[in-house]
Amino acid sequence: MSRIHFHQTIFGPINSRRLGISLGINLLPTNYKLCTFNCIYCECGWTEVEPDTEVNFVPATEIVIQLEERLKELKEEGVIPNSLTLAGNGEPTVHPEFGAIVDGAIALRDVYFPDARISVLSNASKLEDPAVLKALKKVDYNIQKIDAGTERTFQLINQPKVPITLREVVDSLKQFKGNFVVQTLFLRRELDGVRIDNTTEEEITSWLALMKEIRPRRVMLYSIERETPLRGIEKITKNELARIAARVEKMGICAEFFD
Ligand code: SF4
Repeated sequence: MSRIHFHQTIFGPINSRRLGISLGINLLPTNYKLCTFNCIYCECGWTEVEPDTEVNFVPATEIVIQLEERLKELKEEGVIPNSLTLAGNGEPTVHPEFGAIVDGAIALRDVYFPDARISVLSNASKLEDPAVLKALKKVDYNIQKIDAGTERTFQLINQPKVPITLREVVDSLKQFKGNFVVQTLFLRRELDGVRIDNTTEEEITSWLALMKEIRPRRVMLYSIERETPLRGIEKITKNELARIAARVEKMGICAEFFD
Protein backbone atom coordinates (compact mmCIF):
# COMPACT_ATOMS: atom_id res chain seq x y z
CA MET A 1 0.00 0.00 0.00
CA SER A 2 1.02 3.63 -0.36
CA ARG A 3 1.52 4.60 3.25
CA ILE A 4 1.51 8.18 4.36
CA HIS A 5 4.46 9.26 6.49
CA PHE A 6 4.99 12.82 7.54
CA HIS A 7 8.62 13.53 6.81
CA GLN A 8 8.69 16.72 8.81
CA THR A 9 7.89 17.58 12.39
CA ILE A 10 5.63 20.45 11.34
CA PHE A 11 3.59 19.61 8.25
CA GLY A 12 0.86 21.23 6.21
CA PRO A 13 -1.43 22.95 6.68
CA ILE A 14 -3.65 20.32 5.13
CA ASN A 15 -7.36 20.38 4.48
CA SER A 16 -8.75 17.94 6.99
CA ARG A 17 -12.23 16.40 6.68
CA ARG A 18 -12.77 16.88 10.38
CA LEU A 19 -10.59 19.80 11.44
CA GLY A 20 -10.62 22.25 8.55
CA ILE A 21 -7.27 23.92 7.75
CA SER A 22 -5.02 21.93 10.02
CA LEU A 23 -1.36 22.55 10.74
CA GLY A 24 0.13 19.21 11.76
CA ILE A 25 2.61 18.70 14.56
CA ASN A 26 4.19 15.28 14.23
CA LEU A 27 5.61 14.23 17.60
CA LEU A 28 6.80 10.90 16.26
CA PRO A 29 9.86 9.98 14.21
CA THR A 30 9.77 11.43 10.68
CA ASN A 31 10.80 8.24 8.91
CA TYR A 32 8.61 5.55 10.43
CA LYS A 33 5.43 4.98 12.38
CA LEU A 34 5.42 4.55 16.15
CA CYS A 35 2.17 3.57 17.80
CA THR A 36 0.70 1.57 20.65
CA PHE A 37 -1.95 0.23 18.23
CA ASN A 38 -1.76 -1.51 14.87
CA CYS A 39 -5.11 -0.58 13.33
CA ILE A 40 -6.02 -2.51 10.22
CA TYR A 41 -7.00 0.72 8.44
CA CYS A 42 -4.09 2.95 9.51
CA GLU A 43 -3.03 5.39 6.80
CA CYS A 44 0.56 5.14 8.07
CA GLY A 45 0.62 1.38 7.32
CA TRP A 46 1.36 -1.44 9.77
CA THR A 47 3.10 -0.75 13.07
CA GLU A 48 6.43 -2.45 12.46
CA VAL A 49 8.40 -1.01 15.38
CA GLU A 50 7.50 -2.09 18.91
CA PRO A 51 6.23 0.80 21.06
CA ASP A 52 8.90 0.27 23.73
CA THR A 53 11.78 0.62 21.24
CA GLU A 54 14.38 3.22 22.15
CA VAL A 55 13.59 6.31 20.09
CA ASN A 56 15.38 9.61 19.59
CA PHE A 57 12.38 11.90 19.84
CA VAL A 58 12.74 15.46 18.64
CA PRO A 59 13.01 17.44 21.91
CA ALA A 60 10.04 19.60 22.94
CA THR A 61 12.12 22.80 22.74
CA GLU A 62 13.05 22.03 19.13
CA ILE A 63 9.44 21.21 18.19
CA VAL A 64 8.25 24.50 19.68
CA ILE A 65 10.94 26.46 17.80
CA GLN A 66 9.94 24.81 14.52
CA LEU A 67 6.27 25.45 15.23
CA GLU A 68 6.88 29.13 15.85
CA GLU A 69 8.85 29.48 12.61
CA ARG A 70 6.00 27.91 10.65
CA LEU A 71 3.35 30.01 12.37
CA LYS A 72 5.31 33.17 11.48
CA GLU A 73 5.44 32.03 7.85
CA LEU A 74 1.69 31.36 7.77
CA LYS A 75 1.02 34.78 9.26
CA GLU A 76 3.10 36.40 6.52
CA GLU A 77 1.34 34.32 3.85
CA GLY A 78 -2.09 35.23 5.21
CA VAL A 79 -2.99 31.58 5.83
CA ILE A 80 -5.17 31.15 8.91
CA PRO A 81 -5.25 27.62 10.36
CA ASN A 82 -8.39 26.37 12.10
CA SER A 83 -6.43 23.84 14.10
CA LEU A 84 -2.92 23.15 15.35
CA THR A 85 -3.09 19.37 15.43
CA LEU A 86 -0.84 17.05 17.38
CA ALA A 87 -0.87 13.82 15.41
CA GLY A 88 1.45 12.45 12.70
CA ASN A 89 3.22 9.13 12.33
CA GLY A 90 1.47 7.33 15.18
CA GLU A 91 0.32 7.99 18.72
CA PRO A 92 1.39 11.52 19.84
CA THR A 93 1.12 10.84 23.57
CA VAL A 94 4.09 8.46 23.48
CA HIS A 95 6.39 11.47 23.19
CA PRO A 96 8.02 11.74 26.67
CA GLU A 97 7.59 15.55 26.65
CA PHE A 98 4.02 15.52 25.40
CA GLY A 99 2.88 17.93 28.15
CA ALA A 100 5.59 20.51 27.37
CA ILE A 101 4.72 20.37 23.67
CA VAL A 102 1.03 20.95 24.41
CA ASP A 103 1.94 23.92 26.63
CA GLY A 104 4.22 25.34 23.92
CA ALA A 105 1.56 24.92 21.22
CA ILE A 106 -1.09 26.63 23.37
CA ALA A 107 1.21 29.58 24.11
CA LEU A 108 2.10 30.04 20.43
CA ARG A 109 -1.51 29.65 19.32
CA ASP A 110 -2.48 32.45 21.73
CA VAL A 111 0.10 34.75 20.15
CA TYR A 112 -0.27 33.97 16.45
CA PHE A 113 -3.75 32.51 15.79
CA PRO A 114 -5.89 32.88 18.93
CA ASP A 115 -8.98 31.53 17.15
CA ALA A 116 -7.31 28.24 16.17
CA ARG A 117 -8.02 25.12 18.18
CA ILE A 118 -5.38 22.92 19.69
CA SER A 119 -6.40 19.38 18.66
CA VAL A 120 -4.94 16.02 19.58
CA LEU A 121 -5.73 12.77 17.78
CA SER A 122 -5.12 9.94 20.23
CA ASN A 123 -6.02 6.32 20.87
CA ALA A 124 -6.48 6.65 24.64
CA SER A 125 -3.78 4.09 25.40
CA LYS A 126 -1.60 6.33 27.60
CA LEU A 127 -4.16 7.80 29.94
CA GLU A 128 -2.69 6.01 32.94
CA ASP A 129 0.18 8.53 32.71
CA PRO A 130 -0.85 11.56 34.85
CA ALA A 131 1.24 13.94 32.71
CA VAL A 132 -0.55 12.82 29.53
CA LEU A 133 -3.94 13.11 31.18
CA LYS A 134 -3.15 16.60 32.51
CA ALA A 135 -1.97 17.80 29.10
CA LEU A 136 -5.01 16.40 27.28
CA LYS A 137 -7.31 18.20 29.67
CA LYS A 138 -5.83 21.51 28.46
CA VAL A 139 -6.48 21.10 24.73
CA ASP A 140 -9.57 22.38 22.90
CA TYR A 141 -10.21 19.29 20.86
CA ASN A 142 -9.20 16.16 22.71
CA ILE A 143 -10.15 13.52 20.14
CA GLN A 144 -10.01 9.92 21.36
CA LYS A 145 -10.54 6.75 19.37
CA ILE A 146 -13.16 4.10 20.14
CA ASP A 147 -13.66 1.87 17.10
CA ALA A 148 -15.65 -0.95 18.65
CA GLY A 149 -18.49 -1.86 20.94
CA THR A 150 -17.09 -5.25 21.95
CA GLU A 151 -13.71 -6.48 23.12
CA ARG A 152 -13.37 -8.94 20.24
CA THR A 153 -13.87 -6.27 17.59
CA PHE A 154 -11.61 -3.83 19.44
CA GLN A 155 -8.80 -6.39 19.34
CA LEU A 156 -9.48 -7.24 15.68
CA ILE A 157 -9.60 -3.65 14.42
CA ASN A 158 -7.10 -1.85 16.64
CA GLN A 159 -4.72 -4.76 17.40
CA PRO A 160 -3.11 -3.02 20.39
CA LYS A 161 0.62 -3.56 20.75
CA VAL A 162 0.35 -2.90 24.48
CA PRO A 163 -1.80 -4.87 26.91
CA ILE A 164 -5.06 -2.91 27.01
CA THR A 165 -8.74 -3.78 26.83
CA LEU A 166 -11.70 -1.83 25.53
CA ARG A 167 -13.07 -1.67 29.08
CA GLU A 168 -9.80 -0.08 30.27
CA VAL A 169 -10.00 2.48 27.46
CA VAL A 170 -13.60 3.34 28.35
CA ASP A 171 -12.91 3.60 32.07
CA SER A 172 -9.86 5.79 31.53
CA LEU A 173 -11.85 8.14 29.28
CA LYS A 174 -14.26 8.79 32.14
CA GLN A 175 -11.49 10.89 33.72
CA PHE A 176 -12.30 13.65 31.19
CA LYS A 177 -15.82 13.90 32.62
CA GLY A 178 -17.31 14.22 29.14
CA ASN A 179 -14.98 17.00 27.95
CA PHE A 180 -13.58 15.14 24.98
CA VAL A 181 -14.53 14.00 21.50
CA VAL A 182 -14.84 10.40 20.35
CA GLN A 183 -13.80 9.41 16.86
CA THR A 184 -14.97 6.12 15.43
CA LEU A 185 -14.09 4.65 12.07
CA PHE A 186 -16.74 2.25 10.78
CA LEU A 187 -15.75 -0.59 8.51
CA ARG A 188 -16.56 -4.12 7.35
CA ARG A 189 -14.39 -6.85 6.02
CA GLU A 190 -14.92 -10.53 5.40
CA LEU A 191 -12.28 -12.80 3.99
CA ASP A 192 -11.55 -16.50 4.35
CA GLY A 193 -14.38 -16.84 6.87
CA VAL A 194 -13.00 -14.15 9.18
CA ARG A 195 -15.41 -11.27 9.67
CA ILE A 196 -14.35 -7.91 11.07
CA ASP A 197 -17.36 -5.64 11.31
CA ASN A 198 -18.19 -2.82 13.72
CA THR A 199 -21.49 -2.08 11.94
CA THR A 200 -23.54 -5.11 13.03
CA GLU A 201 -26.55 -4.39 15.23
CA GLU A 202 -24.79 -6.06 18.17
CA GLU A 203 -21.72 -3.88 17.69
CA ILE A 204 -23.64 -0.64 17.22
CA THR A 205 -25.84 -1.34 20.25
CA SER A 206 -22.78 -2.06 22.42
CA TRP A 207 -20.92 0.98 21.06
CA LEU A 208 -23.94 3.22 21.73
CA ALA A 209 -24.06 1.89 25.29
CA LEU A 210 -20.41 2.94 25.69
CA MET A 211 -21.22 6.42 24.35
CA LYS A 212 -24.05 6.64 26.85
CA GLU A 213 -21.69 5.62 29.63
CA ILE A 214 -18.93 8.14 28.84
CA ARG A 215 -21.07 10.92 27.27
CA PRO A 216 -18.45 12.70 25.16
CA ARG A 217 -19.29 16.23 24.07
CA ARG A 218 -19.20 15.14 20.43
CA VAL A 219 -18.82 11.98 18.36
CA MET A 220 -17.16 11.95 14.94
CA LEU A 221 -18.05 9.03 12.69
CA TYR A 222 -16.08 8.39 9.56
CA SER A 223 -15.15 5.79 7.00
CA ILE A 224 -11.92 4.80 5.28
CA GLU A 225 -10.63 7.35 2.81
CA ARG A 226 -7.50 5.79 1.35
CA GLU A 227 -5.80 2.45 0.79
CA THR A 228 -5.53 0.41 4.00
CA PRO A 229 -2.78 -1.97 5.20
CA LEU A 230 -5.32 -4.82 5.44
CA ARG A 231 -6.83 -5.28 1.99
CA GLY A 232 -10.51 -5.76 1.26
CA ILE A 233 -11.99 -3.32 3.76
CA GLU A 234 -15.40 -2.04 2.67
CA LYS A 235 -16.05 1.69 2.80
CA ILE A 236 -19.19 2.43 4.78
CA THR A 237 -21.61 4.70 2.94
CA LYS A 238 -22.59 8.18 3.99
CA ASN A 239 -26.19 7.01 4.52
CA GLU A 240 -25.14 4.29 6.91
CA LEU A 241 -22.95 6.70 8.89
CA ALA A 242 -25.88 9.14 8.98
CA ARG A 243 -28.16 6.46 10.44
CA ILE A 244 -25.66 5.67 13.21
CA ALA A 245 -25.12 9.40 13.87
CA ALA A 246 -28.89 9.87 14.24
CA ARG A 247 -28.94 7.22 16.97
CA VAL A 248 -26.15 9.07 18.82
CA GLU A 249 -28.04 12.37 18.51
CA LYS A 250 -31.12 10.68 19.93
CA MET A 251 -29.17 10.15 23.15
CA GLY A 252 -28.54 13.91 23.35
CA ILE A 253 -24.91 13.69 22.19
CA CYS A 254 -23.72 15.76 19.19
CA ALA A 255 -22.67 13.60 16.27
CA GLU A 256 -21.19 14.42 12.88
CA PHE A 257 -20.11 12.12 10.09
CA PHE A 258 -17.53 12.33 7.34
CA ASP A 259 -17.45 9.94 4.39
S1 SF4 B 1 -4.05 4.52 16.61
FE1 SF4 B 1 -3.94 5.87 14.84
S2 SF4 B 1 -1.74 5.91 14.30
FE2 SF4 B 1 -2.06 4.18 15.67
S3 SF4 B 1 -2.37 2.43 14.31
FE3 SF4 B 1 -4.40 3.26 14.83
S4 SF4 B 1 -4.89 4.70 13.19
FE4 SF4 B 1 -2.67 4.30 13.10
